[in-house]
Amino acid sequence: MLYDKDVTTNFLQGKKLAFIGYGSQGHAQANNLRDSGFDVIVGVRPGKSFDKAKKDGFQVYSVAEAAKKADWVQLLTPDEIMPDVYKEQVAPYLEAGNVLGFSHGFNIHFKEIVPPAGVDVVMMAPKGPGNLCRRTYVEGSGVPALYATYQDASGHAEDLAKEFAKGNGAARAGLLKTTFKEETEEDLFGEQNVLMGGITSLIETGFEVLVEAGYSPELAYFEVDHEMKLICDLIYEGGFAKMYNDCSNTSEYGSYTRGPKVVNAESRAAMKQNLREIQDGTFAKEFMADFRNGFKKLYAYRAEMEKSQLQQVGEELRARMPFVKNEDKYSD
Ligand code: NDP
Ligand code: MG
Ligand code: MG
Repeated sequence: MLYDKDVTTNFLQGKKLAFIGYGSQGHAQANNLRDSGFDVIVGVRPGKSFDKAKKDGFQVYSVAEAAKKADWVQLLTPDEIMPDVYKEQVAPYLEAGNVLGFSHGFNIHFKEIVPPAGVDVVMMAPKGPGNLCRRTYVEGSGVPALYATYQDASGHAEDLAKEFAKGNGAARAGLLKTTFKEETEEDLFGEQNVLMGGITSLIETGFEVLVEAGYSPELAYFEVDHEMKLICDLIYEGGFAKMYNDCSNTSEYGSYTRGPKVVNAESRAAMKQNLREIQDGTFAKEFMADFRNGFKKLYAYRAEMEKSQLQQVGEELRARMPFVKNEDKYSD
């Protein structure tokens, strides 16, 4: 891990940094780098983000205009939008010596974006949501980040990535070196199999099994959904050891003996298959095809999720629990 004191080069000084997109990451990174003393502009389409960036005191331009002015173009639109934005509004204005920056490796790794020789291509990927990156920066701490180099035209691309991460406050918490390939594949694997795909499938299946067996949906909701956060908090704080220590011996014994029957050899094989489809580009191709088809599949899955019994029951119960706040805690 690298920290502030380890990043001592000065290649970023004097460069004009354009943040393309002013959403979760764009607003956090633009504000953090500006407060760290760098020359920051914003490039975004007219609309909500454009107005917010103006209100926050930035010079705001069209994407093309910002790309033309900048030495460093940091692409922070949604990943699926990025290839078109890049091709039409950024690529024509990239010059030798410029830096093209990312916060996720998807488009470079899967060759949706193919940058020209002569520019540095780097990544600074914060390991947390944008609002948290901004809030912790203001408080004097930061969110750790990964950094990587894909193309080193200048001979100091890696130093630039590290300086950029330091400017974002990430080196206060720690910088970890990676590659575009590793970051992309690991990120997709985590969200598909454990963090989002895994956890939602587990909650939903547990809920359905209980309700089908005649247990009340409300009770089932509390058992397999609401309590999830409490258990995760304990794991976050002290690993499985702390979590088991805070729970009963009955639950611990049941966990060791029954859990592996649920997430079993078949699940492990499915995870490995999912990983192969990430590695060979099958997932990326499928996702981008759905995007180019108007996200028909994504929106159908979303509609199905929204009308599920679990979501409905959960909404009713959460409305009666004012202490469960459905708001963005990290907005600034
Ligand atoms: P958001 O969806 O929060 O923000 C996207 C921004 O892009 C908005 O300002 C939006 O403006 C703008 N935008 C959308 N379409 C266009 C367009 N056609 N032309 C110009 N601007 C457009 O994105 P995130 O910040 O979540 O993600 C940005 C990048 O950061 C991605 O690569 C993501 O993988 C990565 N990342 C995100 C993290 C996070 O915290 N969310 C964490 C780590 C990495 P408008 O308001 O007009 O829609
Ligand atoms: Mg991701
Ligand atoms: Mg219990």
